[in-house]
Amino acid sequence: MQLIDGNAIAASIIEELTTEVGTLSGKKPVVAFIRVGEDPASVSYVRKKEKTAERIGIESRLTLLPESITSEELFAQIDILNADPDVNGILIQAPLPKHINETATFNRVLPGKDVDGFNTVNIGKLCQEDSSGFVACTPAGIVQLIKRSGIETEGKHVVVLGRSQIVGKPAALLMMQKACPGNATVTVCHSRTADLPNITRQADVLIAAIGRANFVTADMVKDGVNIIDVGINRVEDANKKSGYRLIGDVEFATVSAKATHITPVPGGVGPMTVAMLMHNTLRAFKASQANQG
Ligand code: NDP
Repeated sequence: MQLIDGNAIAASIIEELTTEVGTLSGKKPVVAFIRVGEDPASVSYVRKKEKTAERIGIESRLTLLPESITSEELFAQIDILNADPDVNGILIQAPLPKHINETATFNRVLPGKDVDGFNTVNIGKLCQEDSSGFVACTPAGIVQLIKRSGIETEGKHVVVLGRSQIVGKPAALLMMQKACPGNATVTVCHSRTADLPNITRQADVLIAAIGRANFVTADMVKDGVNIIDVGINRVEDANKKSGYRLIGDVEFATVSAKATHITPVPGGVGPMTVAMLMHNTLRAFKASQANQG
């Protein structure tokens, strides 16, 4: 069994980006974050993204808005960033307050600045295999983990657990693309799937993104399976200072004994998401420079 070290792979992507940004003369890429409210997880995620941007040499700008903000006020803030030629990428940290429509908010961001890849235009481009669009960071990170670990997908059966807009659905689209990695036969499972273990047992590559701790057990996979565990689940742990620890959707101890490759949680897919956000920001910057030139 080979452990897929997401921290190491993300670090090498960040190093590649740092080198590339270091060669830029003149303007540097700029990513703008909008955070609404004080949700502790959002505070921590945005801080992590700011730190990574700084390390690479990408400038970040943070707009903090109150939980009580209206959609109109939020849209006005997005419009300011859309209109600012120095801002290359815009990220609106989810979750947003319940009274704000997330899809409408993501669609307010100009597609060319939508480095999160949540905009309808970019999702459409993914469906059409138009590489000018931005791919959502977590599925894009999954592709990099597969590619850089040398996992073969062509002609293989990839089973995706979960059909969310931000992980399961785009991951399935990427695996069926006429590309490498890709060219796989893809099955997507969700909460209404009948006889799910019978399907997961056929997987050469299993991408688990359902948010259910230890859901995938050893009896649900075949020998030699490659596992990408996207799930991040908090479970109580009295031995931890925080009182909890993070585990994936896959029961690591038993499944890893049958797997060829497997991602740990934490330290697998998680670090890739931030690295791919930076990758998208640099791409947005280069596209804007090309348009101006
Ligand atoms: P969602 O809750 O949006 O989607 C979960 C999906 O799993 C749905 O399609 C749902 O089916 C399906 N599902 C839920 N329970 C079952 C079940 N018992 N059997 C089969 N399918 C089931 O989650 P996300 O896609 O946003 O996230 C999934 C996991 O990935 C979470 O743990 C999240 O924390 C993690 N995550 C990790 C990231 C990272 O950077 N590592 C980034 C984003 C998410 P249905 O559609 O029928 O309801």
